[in-house]
Amino acid sequence: MSTVGAAPAGAGSAGPAGAGANTDSAGPGSAGPTGAVWCDRCGEPAGDGSHAACRAARELEPPRFCPRCRRRMKVQVVPTGWTATCVQHGELRG
Ligand SMILES: [Zn+2]
Ligand SMILES: [Zn+2]
Repeated sequence: MSTVGAAPAGAGSAGPAGAGANTDSAGPGSAGPTGAVWCDRCGEPAGDGSHAACRAARELEPPRFCPRCRRRMKVQVVPTGWTATCVQHGELRG
């Protein structure tokens, strides 16, 4: 038996350098810190401008748009508050 001319073990050049560089790229429509892409009241991009008035209104009212897909949600007022249903993302309660 003869050891075939194998590559020297433990050679410095092993693998791609800097393999740990995991580019955590956020794709299009990346969600903000709250997970909302769209303003759930006015339907505009959540990160575009200030929605302070929307947020204030949302303290009192149910949302109108799904914050994730911008679909209009089916809103029902219930004794405990409201439920808003997105056909894609299900029910929100408030
Ligand atoms: Zn808004
Ligand atoms: Zn949705």
